[in-house]
This record gives sequence, C-alpha cells and structure tokens, in this order.
Amino acid sequence: MKAELYDPMLSDSIHLPEPFRIRVIEPITRISKTDRVRALEQAGLNTLLLDSKDVYIDCLTDSGTGAVTQSMQAAMLLGDEAYSGSKSFRKLESVVTNIFGYALTIPTHQGRGAEQLYVPNLIKYRETHHGLDKSKMVVISNFFFDTTQAHAQINGCTIKNTPSDQAFDTSVDGLFKGNFDLERLRDTIETHGPHNIPYIVSTITCNSIGGQPVSMANLKGVYTIAKEYEIPVVLDCARFAENAYFIQQREPGYENVSIEAITKEMFEYADLMSMSAKKDAMVPMGGLLSFKNRQYEDVFKDCQNLCVVLEGFPTYGGLEGGAMERLAVGLYESMRQEWLEYRVKQIEYLVEGLEKIGVVCQQPGGHAAFVDAGRLLPHIPPTQFPGMALANELYLIAGIRTPEIGSLLLGRDPKTGVQLPCPAELLRITIPRATYTQSHMDYIIKAFSIVKENASQIRGLAFSYEPPVLRHFNARFTQVDM
Ligand SMILES: *Cc1c(COP(=O)(O)O)cnc(C)c1O
Repeated sequence: MKAELYDPMLSDSIHLPEPFRIRVIEPITRISKTDRVRALEQAGLNTLLLDSKDVYIDCLTDSGTGAVTQSMQAAMLLGDEAYSGSKSFRKLESVVTNIFGYALTIPTHQGRGAEQLYVPNLIKYRETHHGLDKSKMVVISNFFFDTTQAHAQINGCTIKNTPSDQAFDTSVDGLFKGNFDLERLRDTIETHGPHNIPYIVSTITCNSIGGQPVSMANLKGVYTIAKEYEIPVVLDCARFAENAYFIQQREPGYENVSIEAITKEMFEYADLMSMSAKKDAMVPMGGLLSFKNRQYEDVFKDCQNLCVVLEGFPTYGGLEGGAMERLAVGLYESMRQEWLEYRVKQIEYLVEGLEKIGVVCQQPGGHAAFVDAGRLLPHIPPTQFPGMALANELYLIAGIRTPEIGSLLLGRDPKTGVQLPCPAELLRITIPRATYTQSHMDYIIKAFSIVKENASQIRGLAFSYEPPVLRHFNARFTQVDM
C-alpha cells in the first residue's frame, strides 16, 4: 500500500471492518445435531443435496448467493421488458463495451448459458476454416471450471489443463498460481495439432486451482501463443474484478493502476468472454457472452441464432429487462477498490485462522478458503473422497455447508471411464459477497478445531448412486468401513 495511504486504524494485524451497512437481513437458524444427522442422511451424505433450511452457514458457493447493493436493487425498477431491442439490453451492451471494450453482447441466464452457445459454434468455425478433425478435438485451459469442462466434453472435446507445476501444491506460495505453464500450453497445441484445437480458455481467477489469479503477463503470453496458431481465446471471467485486484496488488507496474484500467487491459488478451455474472458482478442470476470485435462475427451470429432456441431472443437472452439493468450496475459495483480489498482480506483472515490451528489451506485466493482435505485426512484415499468426507463432518459438527473440490468434482474420463487423476483433494469454504461477517469466520475456525480433533475417526465414502455427467451434483454415498 502506498505510504500516504497508511492508516494506523487499518494496519495489517486487524480485520478490515465491513465497508457497508447491513440494512436488510435474512434470519438463519441452527438446527439440532439430531436433525443435522437426519438431514445429511436424507441428502445421501452429499452436502450439495441438503435443504437450505437445514444449513446454518452456507459456504457451498459464492454464485448468486451474495448481497446486492442499493443501486442494483433500484436499477431493477427501470427494466424495459420489450421482447426485442429493449432499452435495458442497449444499456447492458454499452456498459460491456465501456468496461471491457467488447463490441458484441448476448445476455444469458448464467455462465453455462453462454457456454452452450459458444462451444459448438467455435468448433464449427474451426472445422469450416481450419480443417479440424472432430474425432481429435482438444481444448486447453489453465484449469477448466466444471461446467466449462462438461460443455466441451458433451461436444466431443478432450480436456487438457496446463497449469503450472506448483498450482496445487498447498505447501508452495506463489503470486499467480492460476497461471498457465506456457511451455506446456505450446507443447499441447503442437502435440494435438493447432487445427484440432477449437479454442483455449483463460480462466480468471482460476476457480479449480483455488481462486488463484492469473498475471497480466501470463494472459498476454497465452494470447500471443494462441494468435500464432490462430486459435481463439475465451476469457472465462466470472471473477474478473478479483483477478484485477490481485494484479494491482502483486504484479510489478500495476500498483498505481485502477481496477477499471487493469480490467480493460486483461480483456484485450482474448477474443470472446464468457461470464457467470453470479460471482463478481453480484447478481443472483445472469451471464454474458461477448465478442471483442468483428473478427469472429460469424461465430457471434451463430451464437445469436442458437440463443433463440436455447436461451431466448438475443436482446434479452436468458434475462428479463430488470435483471439486465441490475447487471449493468453490478458490473461497475464489482470493481470498487475498498470493496475488493475487504473481500480478499476476509478470506485471508479465515485462512490465517485455520492455518493457526494446523489446518493446511491453499494460499488465500479470491472467493474461498481451500482446505487441504487430503492432508487433514491422510487415511482416506482419493477414491473415497476425503473432501466430501470432511464436508460431512463439518456439517454434522457445526451446520456449515461446504463442497468438495477434488476427485469427485473432476470425475471420470468420458472416453475410458477411468477416474481422472486429481492433483489435490480440497474442501472449499466459499464466502458469499457481503453476506457473512467476521464472527461467522470465527465460528467456522472453531468448528475446524473440533473436526480436527476427531479427524482420524472420519470415514471415507463410496457411491450408492453415481450420475453419468457432473456427478457431484446428484451423487449419493454410504460410509466405507474403517
Ligand atoms: C460459475 C462459473 C462458471 C459457470 O457459471 P454458472 O453461472 O454457474 O452457470 C463458469 N466458469 C467459471 C470460472 C465459474 O466460476
């Protein structure tokens, strides 16, 4: 932090007080232990299947679960619900151009709404223009988000993640652990043939690596390589503002650059962007598919046509007019400096508290604390899902709901049916925006101190039902005997 901004009230040792007032509240209740045992059994030992009423602190996701601001709420009343060419759409479109520099926009109901439009159309484009062999398609990312991976797979692509070697090593700190390994990226392109790569996805921040940021230099490096091979780059940018904040804090040359200017520059290093607006853009529902310029206008038009069938007419896509107004405001709200600082510090506070009691975490990232469940439960092999076993225990002890980010989430190779090797077995404590306070963080830390005492007694899990795709959503389990 710059010297003139030093304020003894906000020195490093204290948690940043919330930079907002709480004016509307949602009551939450902690049900009894007996009821929690029953609820978890009914959910098939899958925390994702619990009912919200049975959860005290819900750290399942920060997707659409955060608070909205007064300005966002007020904007909803301005919705123009015209079927075609609504004013609200034109506003959203111009906000996207203003913030990101992208010319062509389709609103979607959420991130995967954008994915279902661009994935088949980029494949088609590469087949028409570059002779892609549909039986050999490979798509590459620093690390694919689960739905982004699934959309590529159901369209016949093989997935290749090319993160750095240390991305998943929780014992190593790094400034930009979400970075691509650029050599590995190039090798992968060469190995599979550039014409067989319909697109590359830069995920910011990289969710699957633990909300870890990607540096500007790396984004630029990826884009430069992709240009060499004429491969389009998609920015999967749900947490673009958090990524911009990390660049400002960590990357030399950006310390005095505004979040807005960093954001604009990040988006230069892609051809299109696919955004789940339920994360940084703070809306409960919404997404964006935008193209930088007219280079891929044919693909954009194909996406518009597919949008009519799958989402809605392209000037509302998956959203009502009021929701487009709210999103247009949320995109600006997400970039407020003090707001991003508070959010990242809240995660740091949680991670520090956990590490102090000996619970090893991935270095703090943007939206969650990632606990190394593999290290906390070394007696449970990856095939018995230590992350989900830990999530079960945390719910039973404290009513806290968390998801597994490990072998369960990663799933099987769709072609061979073999479990994909997972670099780390994590449990994610996801923090919704402006929803929980410091005392909730303290409660979570206390719960872990109790869970840790009985860690050796926690049992692994086996499927009683395994769905064919995105299995973590609907899977059910039984406990494995010790
Ligand atoms: C959430 C997310 C998605 C999918 O978006 P939904 O709104 O959940 O459909 C895609 N990519 C990343 C990086 C995400 O975080």
